[in-house]
Amino acid sequence: MGDDHALYLDKYQRISLEHSFVLYQWGLHPEEMRDEFVTPVKDILAKRVGFRCSNPACRKPTSGPQEDSTKSINIGVAAHITAASSDGPRYNPALSSDVRKDVTNGIWLCQSCAKLIDNDESRYPIEVLQHWKAIGESAALRALENRSGPEDEELLFLRLEQLMQDLLEEIRKDLAAHPLGREFVTLSKRWSYWAKGNELVYYFEDHTELDNKLRILLNYGLIRDITSNSNAKHYVFTEAFVRYFGV
Ligand SMILES: [Zn+2]
Repeated sequence: MGDDHALYLDKYQRISLEHSFVLYQWGLHPEEMRDEFVTPVKDILAKRVGFRCSNPACRKPTSGPQEDSTKSINIGVAAHITAASSDGPRYNPALSSDVRKDVTNGIWLCQSCAKLIDNDESRYPIEVLQHWKAIGESAALRALENRSGPEDEELLFLRLEQLMQDLLEEIRKDLAAHPLGREFVTLSKRWSYWAKGNELVYYFEDHTELDNKLRILLNYGLIRDITSNSNAKHYVFTEAFVRYFGV
């Protein structure tokens, strides 16, 4: 982190301190104030994920050069997992002020992801953010060590969940009902098709850009194309893909 980055955070803190002072002047109780992170905590949060957004579907770098060669840009935010004040998202009144501003209650995100998690509390509950934080840190460590493995697989699946949630949701249900099902076909509801009886079916009408979604799964080696001389496209799920659904 450059000096300029530290200056940026210091300025933020100064604003926060001035804000606190105004609240005191208004006679508000300290508990009603925000439990902001101090600069070293923000610094640690950013460094633990290599200055990348912790949202596995984003992973955007949050630090880079400014035009001025002596300065750097920061678009990262040390977001609170449970809110800094009682009117904020995911607020937990049981926590002490110290715990609320502790590094364990922070997650490093880019500005747009920080906004996203605060605007949709039900989609991004505490458990999801803690999970993001854990895999963000683990990905940073693995990148440092130049390793790849199961963690990267987990990141991949989280990314896929964002790209084709509808399709994965249907596959999840199908595999739960047919744990031995591996073969599937893609069809239009307007076509007549003689099923062999053991294949799962996904309809173009139910999933936008179904071919593109399957192309991505093929690229990642999660399905294989076994179309022979039939009109309908036939595929099979690989065992790695099936395992992801807990089957
Ligand atoms: Zn982000």
